[in-house]
Amino acid sequence: MISTSCGKTSIQAPINITGPYTTGTCDFQFFYKPSKLKIINNGYTIQANYDPGSYITIDGARFELEQFHFHSPSENTVDGLSFAMEAHLVHSNANDNLVVIGLHFRSGGHNRVVNPVFENVPDNIGEERIVEGVMVDATFLLPPVRSYYHFAGSLTTPPRTEGVSWNVMTEVQTVSESSVDKLLEIFGGNNRPIQDNKGREITLVNCPACK
Ligand SMILES: [Zn+2]
Repeated sequence: MISTSCGKTSIQAPINITGPYTTGTCDFQFFYKPSKLKIINNGYTIQANYDPGSYITIDGARFELEQFHFHSPSENTVDGLSFAMEAHLVHSNANDNLVVIGLHFRSGGHNRVVNPVFENVPDNIGEERIVEGVMVDATFLLPPVRSYYHFAGSLTTPPRTEGVSWNVMTEVQTVSESSVDKLLEIFGGNNRPIQDNKGREITLVNCPACK
């Protein structure tokens, strides 16, 4: 796969997610555990670095959850619609294959994972804050119904590496307005513009509700 940093590459992200979709079978399983809350402002986003040992499997292949981070407004749009916030759960395997799970949020409710992140943002870029006595569980970032749009893309921040498996959940959840406001206050909007779909295939995978 070609990979450059000059915007001439073919499979970048984010995109506007829109049909027609191909259909796929639900193949994700989640094995997230609670992690210490470790927050960093890396200059592009507010990121929570995750303790080792949490992972997903895709058709049995394991990808470790490394971190999750936030964009406001959302990066990927759906049928042209933007959302107040988008979270990206970033996973990798030993071969550096990347799997991102995207989650869309609108303003309007307390979120037990997102709130503590934005209540404890470090003052300085590049400085990781470990919030003593606070654990977060990425399981609670996930919606009850885990249907998703799947497509190929790239990281949306430098080095914009391609070959990333994107999986954006269809269900829109809620976060506090204060969390959205805090993120906007820091970056004034940290969403990369929509990239050309270039005819790439988007798969809609319908999954049953979790118990
Ligand atoms: Zn991101």
